[in-house]
Amino acid sequence: MAIPPDGESEVLRRRMIDEQIVARGLRHPDVLNAIRSVPRELFVPSDRQGEAYEDRALPIGHGQTISQPFIVAYMTEHLAVTSRCRVLEIGTGSGYQTAILARLAGTVASVERIDALRHQAARQITALGIENVTLYAGDGSIGLPDLAPFDRILVTAAAPKVPVALTQQLAPGGRMLIPVGGSKEQRLQRVDRLEHRTIETPLLACRFVKLLGTGGWKR
Ligand code: SAH
Repeated sequence: MAIPPDGESEVLRRRMIDEQIVARGLRHPDVLNAIRSVPRELFVPSDRQGEAYEDRALPIGHGQTISQPFIVAYMTEHLAVTSRCRVLEIGTGSGYQTAILARLAGTVASVERIDALRHQAARQITALGIENVTLYAGDGSIGLPDLAPFDRILVTAAAPKVPVALTQQLAPGGRMLIPVGGSKEQRLQRVDRLEHRTIETPLLACRFVKLLGTGGWKR
């Protein structure tokens, strides 16, 4: 199916926000505005554009998925991103979540291990005129030590446990969200870094593709 014409895309987006996000209790105006400003159909494969505003994850090729809109909204709200934040995202995928983070953050560094996905994400982020995002290739499970610390870290692939390298790259007062658990089902964990310790808080149950690499699954 083709990209919906401009006006229609906006109508679909408003409906998605009302029915899938606000109706489930997420109300932060900055987060809703950020989501309203990013056409989701740009980040799904061309033969899936008619499904872009449906209430579920969609395949984006290479065995990966673009997350369900509610999950994107939930993670964004719970990450509590402000314009002063330097954000690290692991698992660029389609780049949809990246674009939404970019609307709220000072800067976003995002790491993706599959080059084809990174290239495609880069095209769409550039097309939207977003300039505060840098995309990196490689194993994000070890973070980006040369650029650390980060105020916020969002991991959008599931790990067997919280990778130590990522916790170490959180600034004091910083926060990370990461799905942790088995390969089929996980729980989103919030990790808050205080001066000398971290606090882990379990959030909702979720289902993400695997974080592969040194701090994730080996295969
Ligand atoms: N937020 C993205 C989610 C994509 S799925 C979206 O909504 O489109 C998770 C992504 O994490 C996949 O693209 C996968 O290739 C990537 N990934 C998995 N392990 C990774 C690693 N160690 N480093 C970087 N990216 C990784």
